[in-house]
Amino acid sequence: MNMVEQELVTGDVQLVRRLNRDAILGLIRQREPISRTALARLAHLTPATVFSIVDELKREGLVKEQGIGPSQGGRRPMLFEFNPRSHAVIGIDIRSAQVVGVLTYLDATPLLTIARDYDLASGADVVQLVADVIRELVAASPVPAGNLIGVGVAAPGIVDVNRGVVVKSVNWGWNDLPLRDILAQQFDLPIYVDEDDNTLALGEASFGAGRGVPNVICVKIGRGIGAGIIINGTLFRGPDNAAGEIGHILVDPDGPQCYCGNYGCLDRMVAAPYIAERAIKGLKKGATSSLRERVHGDLDRITVAMIAEAANAGDSFACQVMEETGRYLGVAIAMLVNTLNPDLVIIGGGVILTGAPLLETTRQVVRLRTFPAPGQRARIVPPLLGVEAPAIGAATLVMTKEGLLPTVLSERAG
Ligand SMILES: [Zn+2]
Repeated sequence: MNMVEQELVTGDVQLVRRLNRDAILGLIRQREPISRTALARLAHLTPATVFSIVDELKREGLVKEQGIGPSQGGRRPMLFEFNPRSHAVIGIDIRSAQVVGVLTYLDATPLLTIARDYDLASGADVVQLVADVIRELVAASPVPAGNLIGVGVAAPGIVDVNRGVVVKSVNWGWNDLPLRDILAQQFDLPIYVDEDDNTLALGEASFGAGRGVPNVICVKIGRGIGAGIIINGTLFRGPDNAAGEIGHILVDPDGPQCYCGNYGCLDRMVAAPYIAERAIKGLKKGATSSLRERVHGDLDRITVAMIAEAANAGDSFACQVMEETGRYLGVAIAMLVNTLNPDLVIIGGGVILTGAPLLETTRQVVRLRTFPAPGQRARIVPPLLGVEAPAIGAATLVMTKEGLLPTVLSERAG
């Protein structure tokens, strides 16, 4: 056997070992407490293999003994359970005016959250800010250095996940930004980069509203709009990482021109800055609203957050703006529901968190514009993980990449 063949065989053995280990850990997470014999049966592996893998997981602290189970005819077996607090992960979310970082245990419980504001217009160095936030979280980590698994970054725009490159991010002006490599030079940790809408979907599907649900569309509204799509429990990225780029679906043929050249795109009608733009236009035409006093008449200072807050407080003009937004969003989501027949649609992003009127209108429009079966099936909900959902999702990405979470999420026990 020559050296290349030797390496291939060794590689195969390691790969098989890794896959078996992932499967065993996944089963323990799903079925805990569980005995090694039961694991061997469920994973179709020999008891010797399972004993050795469980020993390894125990040494690393990922699995611990839970107690003695009932006898299945012979000796009473030792039961094992997952130990989520042994290791920690860092998740970063690059939001439109803020970098949010979370340090979480392996059950996605945030230990620490950091948010740092920045102003893109004044030329803030966002990549440096990301590195600063990571450094702070690393310093604050309570687990031994070797038990900090890695860093996940949720980035805006189109991301090449395999290379960790932000291929294009219009609002940030990033073209082929090698974000992973830049960060890898500063930290001795595995680093993964993905689109913020994909991490939102991963986090929600693993630990949030989509837990145990096989088919989920996760729409994220921010400075732009994108969707993470989970089909049969697996994130669907498409061969060019471009799946879920829903921002340029036509929702109003008479709408204003989008930066892509077309008119009335979803992005142009529903992205955060354009919601504010519509509200400001309405107010300049003389609409009555508490928003006027809020900015002391300086209407150009009105933001989406203010509109959502005013809408929730019952301001009828702000409600109208959010309902109008919901109608546009509903048109796009109805199209996705008819195309993909999801069980669940999660709508996230800062806009949604305070915007009940938006969600309700979206639901009505979706019901009107879909076929009966998919329209009735698809529940439309906000993220369960709240404003930190994309950051927690970025941490989740690291867990899946490092073999600490089953990659097929729908196989998880509810
Ligand atoms: Zn467009």
